[in-house]
Amino acid sequence: MISGKRRMATAGSLLGIGLAVTLFAVPAGPEPGTSRHLEAAVRIVREALVAREGYGLLKELCDLGPRLSASAGLERAIGWARGRMEKLNLDRVWLQPVTVQAWERGGPAEAVIEDRAGAVRLSVAALGNSVGTPEAGISGEVLEVGSIEELRRRGAEARSKIVFFNAPIDGGVRLTDESYDRVVVNRMSGPDAAAEAGAAAVLIRSLTTARDDHPRTGVLKYRSKAAPIPAAALSPRAADALAAALERQPRSRLRLRLPCRPLPDRTSHNLIGEIRGREKPEEVIVVAAHLDSWDLAPGAHDDGGGCLQALEVLSLLKRLGLAPKRTIRCVLYADEENGSLGARAYAAFASGSGETHLAAMESDRGVFEPRGFSLTGSEAVLAKVRAWQPLLAPAGIDWVRPGDGGTADVSYITNARAILGLLNDSQTYMDLHHSALDVYEAVNPRAMELGAAAMAILAHVVSEEGL
Ligand SMILES: [Zn+2]
Repeated sequence: MISGKRRMATAGSLLGIGLAVTLFAVPAGPEPGTSRHLEAAVRIVREALVAREGYGLLKELCDLGPRLSASAGLERAIGWARGRMEKLNLDRVWLQPVTVQAWERGGPAEAVIEDRAGAVRLSVAALGNSVGTPEAGISGEVLEVGSIEELRRRGAEARSKIVFFNAPIDGGVRLTDESYDRVVVNRMSGPDAAAEAGAAAVLIRSLTTARDDHPRTGVLKYRSKAAPIPAAALSPRAADALAAALERQPRSRLRLRLPCRPLPDRTSHNLIGEIRGREKPEEVIVVAAHLDSWDLAPGAHDDGGGCLQALEVLSLLKRLGLAPKRTIRCVLYADEENGSLGARAYAAFASGSGETHLAAMESDRGVFEPRGFSLTGSEAVLAKVRAWQPLLAPAGIDWVRPGDGGTADVSYITNARAILGLLNDSQTYMDLHHSALDVYEAVNPRAMELGAAAMAILAHVVSEEGL
């Protein structure tokens, strides 16, 4: 469905700046500068859509391969992105050291149902940070549960078994990333809960709306005093096959082999580049994404595209000669997927830097057609950013709402006046997320460029007007 506002935005982009100014006039008492900002907004959108610079660079980034935190692949990508920042002739480019957890998959995982019908091999992938199984694998009966609460109720049945969390994400609501948020606890904390019940290992149904044979990885957290147990994700079809086998033969056995292992911590880096403010350089606007990805694909949506959008903000302002009044800083985080350690490192820097962080915005919800911004901040800040929505409409932004969606990294910057998340029409995001399908070819160039333009417009306006 296309809203009236969206139709106007499209028409404005096509018909040029003069007509756009008429279409997007702020309804009640436009402030001085509004038409100037709108003119800049329309130029930003046009340049992003026509040049597609960020999309072209996403290909280069994805061609480097996956970027697992603490891996050689991530270090290669940091070096590449640093070179891109240097080509932009920014005022400052630097690396911020971050101590990160390291982990390696070690090769393909194996899960095989062994029952009277014979052996059935299942599509499976270890969860990030999981300990491995012994070389020969483990074998055990399976306890299927729908939630951690059910596991706790049936704890006595779990001893020495493989606990199977078979909880699909709810595909019946429009925003599947919200459905994901409701069941991700099974992946994060299910392994601990199962270890406390004396289980031998954990399998979870992949957190996805797809019905295919790709497993979806993602991080788990060992926080319990119980010894950590191995954990892996089954593809949706594999989860269905296992559930059907258990229905036929409740005492079916499963053999699981995971060659993964945690490694000692390593030093990695957040990559930071900025255009210094021409009048108030100590006031900072952050545009951000995370450069690390999972290791099953190059993470084009999560979050390579977000990184190129954040970098594109600086590039667009440079290309259009929009020298900012306040400093605009691009932060590409080293480690979101595996523990948000990059986010903590930048936040510690931000709280001791003596600068004022006006706004910190992030793109980490896939690079789909932009819809709005979530905002955490005071009522006054929310009202001010909302009043700028007509300036964001040329990039497809229909709303600014209170909330913290899409701000996994920047939400750690506790002294920022506004924490903003770019939210998109992510209908297919949970089909691709954390799987081998998250590749460059899955990105729509115009959607990605519109997201970059939305961030660039907002960064430009905050830079000019303050917050
Ligand atoms: Zn992400």
